[in-house]
Amino acid sequence: MFLADHHTHSICSPDGFVPMVDMAKGAHQAGLSALCLTDHCDFLSLAGERTPDYDWEAPLLQFEEMQHAWGSKLDLTLGLEFGVGFLDEQAAKRVLAQPALDFVIGSVHNLSGKAGGQDFYCLDYSTEADCYRALDDYFASMLRLARSDCYDVLGHIIYPVRYMKGSYQTPIHILRYTDEMRTILRTAVERGHGMEVNTWKGQTLSEWIPILKLYRECGGEIITVGSDAHTPEPIGAGIRETYAMLQDLGFRYVANYHGRRPDFIKLS
Ligand SMILES: [Zn+2]
Ligand SMILES: [Zn+2]
Repeated sequence: MFLADHHTHSICSPDGFVPMVDMAKGAHQAGLSALCLTDHCDFLSLAGERTPDYDWEAPLLQFEEMQHAWGSKLDLTLGLEFGVGFLDEQAAKRVLAQPALDFVIGSVHNLSGKAGGQDFYCLDYSTEADCYRALDDYFASMLRLARSDCYDVLGHIIYPVRYMKGSYQTPIHILRYTDEMRTILRTAVERGHGMEVNTWKGQTLSEWIPILKLYRECGGEIITVGSDAHTPEPIGAGIRETYAMLQDLGFRYVANYHGRRPDFIKLS
């Protein structure tokens, strides 16, 4: 059975821990057939400051080392999780010109500049108003991202909610943003792009059902599934369950990217 994790981070990410070669070992142990490393390139830091130009040297070296060690056992691809690439089109073009790049997840991790620019991970979600203020800003930025072409799939479209359900236990109704999400997903579909289901290490599964139904209504067919693992242990977490969920919802394929082009793998 084809089983791929399309969202993982190595030590080439600021919040990563292990070399790519160890991530490939983890993927092999988890029984995967394909692994995409999608290390971070964010134009904004946690605090919202502009980051320096992306340096491909370390990821390319590590990718080569990983291919050498595991390339005969796993379909390994080089991806990127590209945060707020739409903020600087020229810089985005330079990053995406990398010829070895197979796959790009477009993400929004930060508030807009006018709202402070911090990562949603760092915000205080003590009150319901805090949460909805952050989400209003988030979905406006997601629409800007969807209208850009600096991505192959939209990354974790429900990203801030993972922190709102944490220590604060604030009840959040993401379906309040159904109209915004429909516009974002339809825009991605019209531009020939897709979306990812991000299991967040296996912790976020059923939350995707309404989003996937909406995506299907918009004519969406391109889907990747990723764990967002930052260490080897959670690689592949929730991916089998997500494939089953996709089939139940009427999707027949998942995408596997090489050279920024999707191959469609039949779910079975
Ligand atoms: Zn992310
Ligand atoms: Zn990630």
